[in-house]
Amino acid sequence: MSGSNSTVSKWSWGETHIDWKVIGPYTLPGYSHKNCAAAYQLDPTFGRIQTDTFVLLMGPIEAWKRGHSTRAYDYNIFWLPRCNQPGYVYGGKAEIGNREMIMRGPLPSHQLAAEFREDQAGLFSAVVAHEMGHMYGAYHASCINNNNRGSVAWCDTHVKNVSLACNTSGAVLTEYCAPQTIMGYTINRNQPLGHQMDGWAHRAYFVMSRITFGWADTLRYPVLVSKIDFDHATDRYMGCDPNCSFRLQRSDAASLDKNASVVIILQTTHSTSNGDRYFVFEHRLNNTYDIRSTTSMLLIHSTDLQRNIGRPPGVYGNKKQVQLYRNTKGAKDIMVRTYGPTFLTDCTPNTSSWDDSGCALGQSIELDTGHEDAPMKMRVHVHPALLESGKLLKVTLSQVVGRGQGLARR
Ligand SMILES: [Zn+2]
Repeated sequence: MSGSNSTVSKWSWGETHIDWKVIGPYTLPGYSHKNCAAAYQLDPTFGRIQTDTFVLLMGPIEAWKRGHSTRAYDYNIFWLPRCNQPGYVYGGKAEIGNREMIMRGPLPSHQLAAEFREDQAGLFSAVVAHEMGHMYGAYHASCINNNNRGSVAWCDTHVKNVSLACNTSGAVLTEYCAPQTIMGYTINRNQPLGHQMDGWAHRAYFVMSRITFGWADTLRYPVLVSKIDFDHATDRYMGCDPNCSFRLQRSDAASLDKNASVVIILQTTHSTSNGDRYFVFEHRLNNTYDIRSTTSMLLIHSTDLQRNIGRPPGVYGNKKQVQLYRNTKGAKDIMVRTYGPTFLTDCTPNTSSWDDSGCALGQSIELDTGHEDAPMKMRVHVHPALLESGKLLKVTLSQVVGRGQGLARR
C-alpha cells in the first residue's frame, strides 16, 4: 500500500493521499480454495451465488462483527487467497467507479514475470494502482492493431459510422496494450523484461483521466487544457486554421504548474454514445519501457469526452457522473467520472511494437480527424528542442488540405 500511495500521490500532483488500515485475516464461511470460483456453493437451500458478490456481501459483515465499519472508508479492498479455478486466476478486480476491489494472491511463481517472483509486494502495488484507476473511473488503455495504428479517428466499434476500410485491414483490438500507462499493460509473464520491478510507477494514468478524476482544477486554471474545437457548422477548426502551436509542460512531473498547458485535446468530426471523440496529447518522459530514459516525448491517444451541456461546471469537457458516494465521516463526497476507453496512437507505425509509440523531439505524424469518406488530415509536429530550460514541449498542428480531402462536408 505504501508503494501504491506514494505513486498515486505523485500521479495526482499531490492531490490524493491514501490513508489505510489493514484488518483481518478473517475466515469467510464455506470459502476454500476449492470453493472460490464464479459459482459459489453457499448453502443447499440458497443454492449458488457469484463468489465476488458473496465476498462483497460477507466481507463487510465479517469486519463489522469485529467492530470495523467498511463504510467509514472511501474504498475497500478485500484480499483473498489465490484461486486456481478457471476465470479466477487474477491478481485484482474492480468495476469502473466502484468502491470495492477484490485482490487475490499471492500468486504462484509460474504466473509471474521473473522480476516479481521475489517481490510480490511490488506486484500488488501495481495491481492496486491499476484497480484504483478503475475505481477512480478509468477504463483500459487499448490499441487497434491495423494499418493506421491509432492515427485515424474512426477505426473502432464505438463510432457511429461503421468503418469497413479499417475493419477489412485486419483491425485487432488489444484491450490492455498501451505500455505507457498502468491502465494498459498489466503484469504478466509475457511482459518485456524492460519493465523493471518499480517500472510500473512510471506508467501514470493518462493525463486527461487524472484531470477527470478531479486532480487538477481546470475551472480555476483553464490554461491547463488547450482545446481545439471543431465547428460542425463551418467544417473548420476554429483557432487552428490553418495551424496553431502549443507548449506543454510534462504531465508526469510530481507537481503541476497551474499557469501552463498540460494537455491538448483535439476534437474530431466523430461522436459516439460516449460523447465527442478527441485526440489527446500529453508530454512525458519516454521512460515507460526504459526507466533510465530522460527524453521527452509527445504521447497521443483518442477517446470520447462528454459535451458540456446542461451540467454543472467542472472538469473541462468531461462531465459524466457515474455515482455519488457519501463518506460516512462526512468529510467529502466522492464523485466518480469515467475516462476512456482509450486507443493509443503510434508515432512509429512502421514497427510492430507499441513501446515506441510516443512522438520524439523533431518527429511528425499525420492524424485523420475526419470520416472515412471525408478525411480531414492534421499534421502534428513536435519541435526538435524543448523550450524554457527544457520544461516545455512545443507542438504545432497544421491542417493538411489536399485534393478530395480536408474541409469538404460529407
Ligand atoms: Zn483492469
